[in-house]
Amino acid sequence: PKKAVLGPLVGAVDQGTSSTRFLVFNSKTAELLSHHQVEIKQEFPKEGWVEQDPKEILQSVYECIEKTCEKLGQLNIDISNIKAIGVSNQRETTVVWDKLTGEPLYNAIVWLDLRTQSTVENLSKRIPGNNNFVKSKTGLPLSTYFSAVKLRWLLDNVEKVQKAVREDRALFGTIDSWLIWSLTGGANGGVHCTDVTNASRTMLFNIHSLEWDKDLCQFFGIPKKILPNVRSSSEIYGLMKISHSLKAGALEGVPISGCLGDQSAALVGQMCFRDGQAKNTYGTGCFLLCNTGRKCVFSDHGLLTTVAYKLGRDKPVYYALEGSVAIAGAVIRWLRDNLGIISSSDEIEKLAKEVGTSYGCYFVPAFSGLYAPYWDPSARGIICGLTQFTNKCHIAFAALEAVCFQTREILDAMNRDCGIPLSHLQVDGGMTNNKILMQLQADILYIPVVKPSMPETTALGAAMAAGAAEGVGVWSLEPEDLSAVTMERFEPQINAEESEIRFSTWKKAVMKSMGWVT
Ligand code: ADP
Repeated sequence: PKKAVLGPLVGAVDQGTSSTRFLVFNSKTAELLSHHQVEIKQEFPKEGWVEQDPKEILQSVYECIEKTCEKLGQLNIDISNIKAIGVSNQRETTVVWDKLTGEPLYNAIVWLDLRTQSTVENLSKRIPGNNNFVKSKTGLPLSTYFSAVKLRWLLDNVEKVQKAVREDRALFGTIDSWLIWSLTGGANGGVHCTDVTNASRTMLFNIHSLEWDKDLCQFFGIPKKILPNVRSSSEIYGLMKISHSLKAGALEGVPISGCLGDQSAALVGQMCFRDGQAKNTYGTGCFLLCNTGRKCVFSDHGLLTTVAYKLGRDKPVYYALEGSVAIAGAVIRWLRDNLGIISSSDEIEKLAKEVGTSYGCYFVPAFSGLYAPYWDPSARGIICGLTQFTNKCHIAFAALEAVCFQTREILDAMNRDCGIPLSHLQVDGGMTNNKILMQLQADILYIPVVKPSMPETTALGAAMAAGAAEGVGVWSLEPEDLSAVTMERFEPQINAEESEIRFSTWKKAVMKSMGWVT
């Protein structure tokens, strides 16, 4: 059959903590044409440690590209219409590799990893000047969450890394850098770069000057020569060069021209381009970002200040306030993998529906301490309010409710910092397929929750950035473009008083989870 003729297409790699996806969009309509997804393994070699294999991550990208191209072929869509590729990625996760062999020198240390708690404690004792040293430059609190301390740990503890740094063979990167370097040729001329959004999560990047910060590199003891070049989120970084051992050679020569940390990508994909527009993404963790325009707003309530995007070399930088929750979808994965009370994530909905209440059971999944607004690394998970009557359905319900309460906490903080309360919440991410969760969220926030019918907004944001890049120019970023997007709306259905009582009981449970590790 004759191949269908379409406008220019744009591909997006969405490399998340739980899975990798490759998606192809029509640049004129933003329609998703085809995609493929592969789940990624997580290793927990010690209590509090979370690692992933960088090679497996790269392989999963190739696999997703290949499978998506195959599916496009079955749809009679010519893959030579793919004019650009964008990358969005789990942020902060840290990789160091050998630039001569292309081999990672250690597993990727995942953002959730807590091994650097003592590193953080030691560093915080010798912060120069006032306590604001790190936050004023980076917008971030000194925490295990960000890359600089993970990289410090690798430099202190992994001999292969130390040797490679001495011999000038080591490169550091977050997942975006690792993927772009590998996809543009790796040891044969790969481009070592990152974008401003990813750089802003390393704790080494000055979000005002948009450069690696000399004082921070010195404070963390990081040699600047191993850091990637920082570029805007939308420009041609390099061309796809795929090793011939892989079948994905089809995309050879296509420019990689978009790069955004996943949460920034979702903000772009949700078209939150104006001051005060916000979105919440429910993946492994939960991340609420509010666009604060061209100014850096610093939070008094535990939120982070971060780079939202910079869509072109000569375009202005936009900032966001961010409320980060470490564990959201990860608690569902834990119920599946560790307790075995469900065999797939979507089964949680059936269990929760059976009871329709947690029956007074509260679950604080502080597996990696608590992020915003508490920032307590010593918190640990608890399930409380148990009675003889409690069963697995109540625990399932409490797990979903926990995700909603945590979002309420960061939304409250956001409203206090911004002064103007959000009138509704735009949502996306893997967990938003769960209708019970979405209804619960509307009930607990007491504002409508609005979900686009095409939930892959992270990938869409990366595709938009790639398609709009100078020299590609197949995607226009005018907000009208997506006016046809249909939305699903969830309105609050309980009374406000009940919502408040449940929320204050949750807070009591949070207090019990804090300060657990001494
Ligand atoms: P990430 O971007 O962090 O990789 P995703 O957006 O792909 O995450 O979402 C995956 C997460 O969502 C997993 O932790 C999974 O357990 C959870 N999840 C997926 N489907 C559902 C569902 N129907 N109900 C609840 N949680 C779900």
